[in-house]
Amino acid sequence: MPRELIISISGMRGIIGENLTPDLAAAYGAAFGTFLQSVGKSGAVVLGRDSRPSGPMLAAAISAGIASVGFNVVDLGIVTTPTVGILVRHLNAAGGIVITASHNPIEYNGIKLLLDNGIAPPAHLAEQIRSTYFSRSLKFVDSVRCGRLSSYDQADRVHIDKVFSIIDPARIASRHRKVVLDSVNGAGGRPGRALLERLGSEVVPLNLEPTGLFAHTPEPIEENLKDLCRAVRQSGADLGFAQDPDADRLAIVDEQGCFIGEEYTLALCAQWIFMHNKGKAATNLSTSRMIDDIAAAAGCSVLRTPVGEAHVAQAMVANNCVIGGEGNGGVIDLRIGPVRDSLVAMAMILQLMAETNLPLSALVARIPKYTMLKTKFPADKQLAQTVLDKARQIFSSARIDTRDGLRFDLSDGWIHLRTSNTEPVMRAIVEAATPTAAQGYLDQVMKLCGR
Ligand code: MG
Repeated sequence: MPRELIISISGMRGIIGENLTPDLAAAYGAAFGTFLQSVGKSGAVVLGRDSRPSGPMLAAAISAGIASVGFNVVDLGIVTTPTVGILVRHLNAAGGIVITASHNPIEYNGIKLLLDNGIAPPAHLAEQIRSTYFSRSLKFVDSVRCGRLSSYDQADRVHIDKVFSIIDPARIASRHRKVVLDSVNGAGGRPGRALLERLGSEVVPLNLEPTGLFAHTPEPIEENLKDLCRAVRQSGADLGFAQDPDADRLAIVDEQGCFIGEEYTLALCAQWIFMHNKGKAATNLSTSRMIDDIAAAAGCSVLRTPVGEAHVAQAMVANNCVIGGEGNGGVIDLRIGPVRDSLVAMAMILQLMAETNLPLSALVARIPKYTMLKTKFPADKQLAQTVLDKARQIFSSARIDTRDGLRFDLSDGWIHLRTSNTEPVMRAIVEAATPTAAQGYLDQVMKLCGR
């Protein structure tokens, strides 16, 4: 059965050679340009891509679409997703486009849109772009007003300079860290290595060539990072970093070669931020309570948002948050850009290690430990509603958040039940202070849906 082309609020994603074709990409580029024009923007759209072999083909098609409605295209080539967010603002562009399917397998690619603030469009504007695309109400321009195409090769430098502005590079460099970097042949290898070397670290390279031929399953989770853990042990490194193909997520391995879990990336970065900036944090409803504990210890607080990077970024801007992100290893610092950024996370972790003079395993041990369990099961709208209604009765003593499915906050943990925008499934995420309590909550949820 052909897999479906998904056009959601975060952009377009599909299978190359099957349903994501150059004609659709050109039309999508033209629809984005038409939308930008309708909201009074003009000038250039910044374009970047991850390392997938289909990237240049899509870049050419999208560029044609953008130029056809009168916008110039500034092509950054292979860059990370956060780099595009930063360059949109640095170059005062009208918007940005990232060609990436993030951590999805090689057969996929996708098109992600950014407004001139570097953030994905909120739902009502995303809907406007979608309907422009579907109705093909494209405002093509005549020959002399067609956009021009140019390239820009300083994007890595701009990005790394911005990261340097919030840390103390000399202090990190004085520690001479040895770091294994696994970029899974994505876009993060070149800037990741450059950042670490400018910070005086010795880089042990793993899959840094941006071939797009992923050396392992690209999602930076434990089961895919066995080689990284081994490389840290064998090389005697201080730590290991793993990026996903578009380098907006970071996972960490400690000096013993142990995967510490992607939830710790944001927790550790928040710990460093709160040492210096007593402000608010923002994260989504499915992210670990570790950040609440860390914030509370520093006299700070945490705002929760629906799941999705744009929700977190918008809440951060609205509340002037000093740190934010998601439990999948995505860290946002608005001083650099409103996009999850593995380079920011790497720099903050090294800075925390430099200031505390503690190895990663000791930094992790200082954070209260929880067990998080996740599952998903098939659920049409009716079953999903039944499960939510029953859960309200069973967990009636909990504090309930209704902004994204239902989240139940209990004294020793929480349960988040939410449906997917793109497939008929329900996700259940539970977290509790002990494995037994977490399993108990998950069992209760599974009983609700007759499993
Ligand atoms: Mg990603």
